[in-house]
Amino acid sequence: MKDWQSMRALVISDIHGNLHALEAVLKVAQGCSGSGFDEIWNLGDLVGYGAHPNEVIDTLRASPARRVLHVRGNHDRVCCGLSSSQGFNPVAALAALWTRQHLRPENREWLRALPMGPIEAGRGVLCVHGSPLHEDQYIASMRDAWIPLRRMPAEVAFFGHTHLQGAFSCRGESWSEDAPAYTEGSRDEVQQFTLAMLAGSRYLINPGGVGQPRDGDWRAAFAIYDQSERQVTFYRTPYDVAAAQGAIRAAGLPERLAARLTTGR
Ligand code: ZN
Repeated sequence: MKDWQSMRALVISDIHGNLHALEAVLKVAQGCSGSGFDEIWNLGDLVGYGAHPNEVIDTLRASPARRVLHVRGNHDRVCCGLSSSQGFNPVAALAALWTRQHLRPENREWLRALPMGPIEAGRGVLCVHGSPLHEDQYIASMRDAWIPLRRMPAEVAFFGHTHLQGAFSCRGESWSEDAPAYTEGSRDEVQQFTLAMLAGSRYLINPGGVGQPRDGDWRAAFAIYDQSERQVTFYRTPYDVAAAQGAIRAAGLPERLAARLTTGR
């Protein structure tokens, strides 16, 4: 067995019941740089929106990874009945209701037991859904990131919730915002972008949304965190969008949830 220092984690978030996207991510991640991954860190919102909530949960529960960490997301909470859908837009609320009705009882119970973030994934590394300061807070800009970066009790936190891939960092009073620049190749291919993490800097890192990207790139997003190399590599991979859309339509879920997968908005 590899020691802790050589650990590589597949970091995923916001799968939202999109089994086709999740399967593509797992397949590509297994082949990444020939090294694959040792662990999976899931930052929440496994379900809600997509047509395969049970299959997504079953896939992760059956993963052979050495350790699979989960943090609950706001949709997980609503879909298993822990929170009401108050505050959700009408489409999200309809999808949550559909998901609640279709979850198998054991998967509903499993969702109910998911821990609230932050959870400690390693020394000085947190996993959260929204922000290290509150599970439902959105971090979409450096303005949102500044206080969590300064106050979080760790140097690195992985977060999701916005479905926007990228990193915010600070070092003393200076700061930086790094969205992956996928310059080579086309959107029909897998692309990657590596960010070296400097010692002494603090990082908030979002792997992007697996199942419903919102940054204008329709491909499924994920990241691989390499602890020993002190780097995070962002990825985008094509997947069978038409199949995911067909399942959403066949389930009678709102058309908007199918249509948006084409544009990544
Ligand atoms: Zn989400």
